[in-house]
Amino acid sequence: MRDPADKVVGLDTLLVVRAAWRAGGKAVVWTNGCFDLLHAGHARSLRAAAALGDALVVGVNSDESVRRLKGPTRPVVPEGERAELVAELGCVDRVVVFGEDTPERVLSLLRPDVHCKGADYAPPSGKPIPERALVEGYGGKVEFLPLEPGLSTSSLIERIRMPEGAVFFMHSGTRPAVLLDRDGTLIEDQGYPRDPGRVRLLPGVAEALRSFKAAGLPLAVVSNQSGLGRGLVSPEGARAVHARLEELLAAEGVRLDGAYYCPHAPQEGCACRKPSPALLLRACADLGAAPALSFMVGDKPSDAEGGKRAGCSSVLLGTPPGEPSEADFVAASWEQALAWIIVRAATPR
Ligand SMILES: [Mg+2]
Repeated sequence: MRDPADKVVGLDTLLVVRAAWRAGGKAVVWTNGCFDLLHAGHARSLRAAAALGDALVVGVNSDESVRRLKGPTRPVVPEGERAELVAELGCVDRVVVFGEDTPERVLSLLRPDVHCKGADYAPPSGKPIPERALVEGYGGKVEFLPLEPGLSTSSLIERIRMPEGAVFFMHSGTRPAVLLDRDGTLIEDQGYPRDPGRVRLLPGVAEALRSFKAAGLPLAVVSNQSGLGRGLVSPEGARAVHARLEELLAAEGVRLDGAYYCPHAPQEGCACRKPSPALLLRACADLGAAPALSFMVGDKPSDAEGGKRAGCSSVLLGTPPGEPSEADFVAASWEQALAWIIVRAATPR
């Protein structure tokens, strides 16, 4: 059997192979895509493409072009590995990585007999195909491959990102933990914090966190940092602020056991922004904590709601008068919050 690594070729080699196929009367089929997180939809459409001729060549978009086409968080898998996995499929004869947004340049050199596109490009209502004139100009055909509903890399990524309801499989621990909002709860709320020099612990925080640790309760920060998604805070700024928080706590003898930041702006519709319970559940799983035995402390109703939705007891610090919340306890100070939590954490439930 051919080593899949041999199937991944540069354009020069591909053109030599193509000439041999032409001489042998083989019909060459081309299709291209990102193939980020290979799934069954890819396998099925490549099988359908292979059936349209004698040899299938797959163009895999380079990392740079995937970023341009799909955004800065893609690809998940680098081009060399994406090409290797596509080459592993039995119906694929050659794989080439190409760097342009459309395959026109490669097509003009390769001149495949059939150029395959997804059914979403099929006329009359499909998306435009800039390379269509080129292919038909040299006598090639454009064919359309059926789409597999529900099978896409984007939908896989969404499932991995733990939308609510998909977290039930997480192992539940057996001990309580204390989950902490950060801004307005542990440190002074300064809007989108990016300056480590302005990080100040709020009154009572150091004593409360020391007492939690002394009682054997692990601590994790769970915080929305939409300044990142809004472009108002750089990743370096966010890291520096977090590092300063750890430094200030270390000086008080407190070590956090974890920190979970949602970096998205609200309009991104992510699955992790509080009041979503996703990061709270994730923190509990990582800490071996049971949500039902754990506590969420925050200064906003969304903290209390997130705590409630995760199944934790929630404590709201200094709630504005009249603002409704899901909190189990409203504390006027950290001292009150500490006393309430310590008693309940020690009580078998
Ligand atoms: Mg807050």
